[in-house]
Amino acid sequence: MTYNESERLSAVLYCPECGSKNDGATSTTQDGETTYVPQDGDIGVCMYCATIITFIDNVTRLKKVSSDELVNLDIMHPGIAAQTDRTRWTIMEMRGID
Ligand SMILES: [Zn+2]
Repeated sequence: MTYNESERLSAVLYCPECGSKNDGATSTTQDGETTYVPQDGDIGVCMYCATIITFIDNVTRLKKVSSDELVNLDIMHPGIAAQTDRTRWTIMEMRGID
């Protein structure tokens, strides 16, 4: 996936699962004309291993999201689990992850 320079993260973040550098972020729910700036607590998916992650510590670190945490987030924000799952499966297909 390619990112616009405006989508580069201000800090270099590493996936807590695979250790890969995640240096960009984009939104799957905002239109393409809005520059996405991640906030602590936003949910993401590692572009390398498809692990579900969240931004923490003023967007300087990533934390793995447990399945229980995702269920609780989906209660507060209905549809987030399905959206995250679709993104995750797309990355897994792109990367050839089983
Ligand atoms: Zn990863």
